[in-house]
Amino acid sequence: MTVKLPIYMDHHATTPVDARVLEAMMPYLTRAFGNAASRSHVFGWEAEAAVDEARRQVAEGMHASPKEIIFTSGATEGDNLAILGAARAYRSKGNHVVTGSTEHHAVLDSCHELEREGFEVTYLAPDRTGRIDAAAVREAIGDRTVLVTLMLANNEIGTIHPLGEIGAVCREKGVLFHTDAVQGFGKIPFDVEQMSVDLASVTAHKLYGPKGVGALYVRGRKPRVRLEPIFHGGGHERGLRSGTLNVPGIVGFGKAVEISMAEREDEARHLRLLRRRLLDGILAEVSDVSVNGPPLPRIEADGSLAPGAEERRLPGNLNLSFAGVEGEALLMGLKNVAVSSGSACTSASLQPSHVLKAIGVPDDLAHASIRFGLGRPNTAEEVDFTIGAVAATVKRLRELMPAMR
Ligand code: PLP
Repeated sequence: MTVKLPIYMDHHATTPVDARVLEAMMPYLTRAFGNAASRSHVFGWEAEAAVDEARRQVAEGMHASPKEIIFTSGATEGDNLAILGAARAYRSKGNHVVTGSTEHHAVLDSCHELEREGFEVTYLAPDRTGRIDAAAVREAIGDRTVLVTLMLANNEIGTIHPLGEIGAVCREKGVLFHTDAVQGFGKIPFDVEQMSVDLASVTAHKLYGPKGVGALYVRGRKPRVRLEPIFHGGGHERGLRSGTLNVPGIVGFGKAVEISMAEREDEARHLRLLRRRLLDGILAEVSDVSVNGPPLPRIEADGSLAPGAEERRLPGNLNLSFAGVEGEALLMGLKNVAVSSGSACTSASLQPSHVLKAIGVPDDLAHASIRFGLGRPNTAEEVDFTIGAVAATVKRLRELMPAMR
């Protein structure tokens, strides 16, 4: 079988829209174009019914109630609304927020904004695998803490946080718990009830839905979470997010969640097998390679977890450093394989990734890192092509830069 080039292996940055998702969206881009807020005619009613169905699908994907889902433009907005909105609404209770140093910039920069408003923020350091545990959260919470925000899974090294344990600590201490669930939603188990999550940001384009649409889960009871809106206007989404709803995008998001839930386990097995093949192939052909982030779990021949093995890393994630090679040069050399160095948004700045720094990867190895993001459409043939391309490029670069060895 010939491999179609270029190969896309950067599914943490974004994913292609699934054909079934596009099909579900099409009528709402053409015939059924109504505004979901139009109450006086059938065009509006039809759009509203479609949004209601998507709200149900998204809620079901995280075991929430549809009333607790607020549609947004994506997770950057969701993170901002959750963090700024909750901290400001509970300001009279306290002015302290707890987060982690490996969070996405949408969370870190929202926390920096709170600092400018007089809040204090604790940035917890992870262990060498990128994990922050519940004991560290417990220790960081004080009398004036109003919010803990920690991600479900990391976008660079795939580390999965023990959200159930962290949520239990927050609940016990009476502190709100927000999670940026973007990378894990639809890929690993996520349950706002079991994990005692009060606020959760998700986005469609990481799970084969369209770009520019996301949702914020806002707990409705026990406790009922209050938020100060950041957009003001028509009072859509229970007044928490004014702005005309992106009906086709929302319909696509709902369908994407439904498909991900139905296929999650099969897909995880497929991705674990491809990742194992990729790592083994690279290790067999290239020397001085290190894995950044958690070790890969032991798996069975069909890709399921071996007995006793724990999933501590997103199934499609692999982050490697190639000693003596510049990551940017490696990216350039890998013309036919789309991967990224560090995270897509920071790689332009050529700063070593804040995540790799936080887990203690030295600067030279952080600069020599590549993030592989395997996804639904990837095949074993594409992985084999990638192994060959990586091996050839690393070899060539090492010959060109012997001084770095
Ligand atoms: N949070 C995480 C962990 C992400 O990986 C991303 C995407 O890069 C975002 C937030 C931002 O999401 P969006 O692109 O929907 O604004």
